[in-house]
Amino acid sequence: MKRVLITGAAGFLGSHLCDRFIKEGYHVMAMDNLITGDLKNIEHLFPLSNFEFYNHDVSNFVHVSGDLDFILHFASPASPIDYLKIPIQTLKVGSLGTHNLLGLAKSKGARMLIASTSEVYGDPEVHPQKEDYWGNVNPVGPRGVYDEAKRFQEAMTMAYHTYHGLETRIVRIFNTYGPRMRLNDGRVLPAFIGQALRGEDLTVFGDGSQTRSFCYVDDLVEGIYRLLHSDYAHPVNIGNPNEITIGEFAEEIIKLTGTDQKVIYKELPTDDPKKRQPDISLAKDILDWEPKVSRAEGLKITYEYFKSLSESELYKKEH
Ligand code: NAD
Ligand code: UDP
Repeated sequence: MKRVLITGAAGFLGSHLCDRFIKEGYHVMAMDNLITGDLKNIEHLFPLSNFEFYNHDVSNFVHVSGDLDFILHFASPASPIDYLKIPIQTLKVGSLGTHNLLGLAKSKGARMLIASTSEVYGDPEVHPQKEDYWGNVNPVGPRGVYDEAKRFQEAMTMAYHTYHGLETRIVRIFNTYGPRMRLNDGRVLPAFIGQALRGEDLTVFGDGSQTRSFCYVDDLVEGIYRLLHSDYAHPVNIGNPNEITIGEFAEEIIKLTGTDQKVIYKELPTDDPKKRQPDISLAKDILDWEPKVSRAEGLKITYEYFKSLSESELYKKEH
């Protein structure tokens, strides 16, 4: 049985990866310090003998016993609200955490995949974004703590590949959504659906002309699974190229939820990227991958999930 360590396992993406690797017959070691994650995302896996959970901060030395075939490093705050609240931890998990895990991968002879992000392109001057674009990031702006941590993470991972011959994979993830996102994590989709469910107006930041391209979580997980098993060590974009303005997205959510709330406009956060759309020709070419789930389908499933949450979750305030 192949053994995989997944960090950030109690979070949105990490928990879906745990499900996938369990389904594929792996022994899954899940690690998380629960800073933005929730054990309820993985508690259904606890009874399984091929699933283990470690409550650990990966910015500190990481040790696991036994053999290890793969490491998937997904631990990191991911929502702008989260990483603005915990900037130092965000920088540490992307840098020190990545270094610790690369060291573990080297000692175990494991292959390591890191969760990078479209944020390495910053506020892009190239559209759509291709892997050979170097990006436009403000290192000292509020988003710099996340973007630069991820850029450092890529550089460190490449260095281990080049200088130590470690097998590494880098996925640049574009905005992904689906069940198990935290309703109040501040990202646009849970924000809008939460507002619709509570009967509040939908808050569009800026004039709503900025764009994003939303990928359903199952499509992302499939792309990551294929990349891990490929022999390609350079960064690969995984995302859905179907681009939409945030203003139009708000209208879509209003239609989907049937709410009669309206849109209100709030100040655009500093350095908020104006456009974002992945060029996925590389993933198509080397992984034979492209997204299958339309936004209409994905949103429906995600809305059902949020509707099933309790009143107390719906009104839960973040600390
Ligand atoms: P999430 O906040 O739901 O999950 C992150 C998990 O990491 C949480 O469970 C959190 O408790 C854990 N964590 C954070 N710091 C840790 C530490 N020091 N030690 C151990 N665990 C720690 O976020 P997500 O959306 O699931 O994102 C997961 C990964 O994917 C992140 O690395 C993020 O940068 C990357 N990513 C996500 C998206 C997206 O659209 N969801 C886009 C680009 C990149
Ligand atoms: N946004 C918005 N209203 C909200 C939350 C976010 O208009 O209540 C905007 C945000 O300014 C950004 C886009 O939606 O332009 C996506 O934001 P998110 O935080 O989901 O992710 P980002 O892609 O910015 O990291």
